Amino acid sequence: MTTRRDFLSRSAMTVAGLGTMASAQVPVQTAESVKQLQPPKKPVIVTRHTGDNSIEEAYKMLLDGTDTLEACHHICVARENDANDHSVGYGGLPNEDGVVELDACCMHGPTRAAGSVGAIQNIRHACLVSRLVMERTGHVMLVGEGAEHFAVAHGLKREDMLTDEARRMWLLWKESRSSQNFWGPPMSSPDGKAPNPAPTLKPQSAIPRHPGPEWADEIRTRSQQLMGMAIDLGIPEDKRSLAIEQVLWPTTGTIHVSALNTKGEISGATTTSGQAWKIPGRLGDSPIIGAGCYTDQDVGSAGATGSGEENIKVAGGHTIIDCMRQGMSPREAGLEALRRIVRNYNGDMNKIRYLDMIYYIVRKDGAYAGCSLWSTTAGGTPKVFTVHDGEQHVENCAFLLDGTTTN
Ligand code: ASP
Repeated sequence: MTTRRDFLSRSAMTVAGLGTMASAQVPVQTAESVKQLQPPKKPVIVTRHTGDNSIEEAYKMLLDGTDTLEACHHICVARENDANDHSVGYGGLPNEDGVVELDACCMHGPTRAAGSVGAIQNIRHACLVSRLVMERTGHVMLVGEGAEHFAVAHGLKREDMLTDEARRMWLLWKESRSSQNFWGPPMSSPDGKAPNPAPTLKPQSAIPRHPGPEWADEIRTRSQQLMGMAIDLGIPEDKRSLAIEQVLWPTTGTIHVSALNTKGEISGATTTSGQAWKIPGRLGDSPIIGAGCYTDQDVGSAGATGSGEENIKVAGGHTIIDCMRQGMSPREAGLEALRRIVRNYNGDMNKIRYLDMIYYIVRKDGAYAGCSLWSTTAGGTPKVFTVHDGEQHVENCAFLLDGTTTN
């Protein structure tokens, strides 16, 4: 049996052995064109539109010389604090048991360090926990209860992440499945109705997000039924449509931020509440280093929002950085990762139309791109990303497929 002491002394010998050598030259294969890239004249932040001031503030932090990861986390923290952002932090939509579980990860280019947290409950700032894992442990990833204890040990306070609004949306989702279970008012209650006969309502079938006319009756029937339930659950009038949408087309959403300063230092961070109504314990791509976020000081940084399971299977963040290392532009690299997602379905559009993905990419010289699997949102507007490179602007994503996801 190897004891910890044996292991440590062997490690010490190994390190001592190495110590007699000059620093080992083991060059990584990086295209000459990439090696020669120079840092940008102005800092660059790439992220999704936040609708708050945090991007401006983070940019100012970069101008003032604040660390790039701190600037990324400034934007993440603002999203985690916003109860109206149902895709992240406080106010995020819960898992199928009504419990909010958060995922986050980060990479710090200058120190080549990484940290991650998965399925953490009762802690608002998952992004800061991922940073604590990076800075205050010898690990890279903590999940669940252990992660929560660790966060509390470092002074983060426990609080319920489920807002009243998110709880009612979850109840609507839960009770809308009540013809198959016991949730919701019983048939014997004064307004109780007999269960809907299965053939007229198809509760398990996914209605496309951008449905064709063939779905009109189904949507009308389900929306009317959900509206009645939303009123019954006390969901305020101005929130009812949103709640119904979350039941029919559960939210996805996340925030990824990549930031680069004029010294060429790069960091990336991602934080999310993950897929609404997920199975407890599910981890998406956001806490996976190499999928939801990947940063390499020699090349650039990339992160993702969208169908997490698909992104894990193509290691999206890492794939993009590696493609850029071989000389691809941010745009080419992002599209290549998206092609790998499509390839995993052998190009079957009946399945691919249920997927969604946006990559946010910045290279070490400040070149950047937002790359989307689909060209437009459900509402038919172009998929966009936000850049700050001295001025904040929203740009259309490059896209692989013309059309919209139906998920
Ligand atoms: N990627 C996130 C996840 O799978 C969700 C999203 O960005 O839409 O958890």
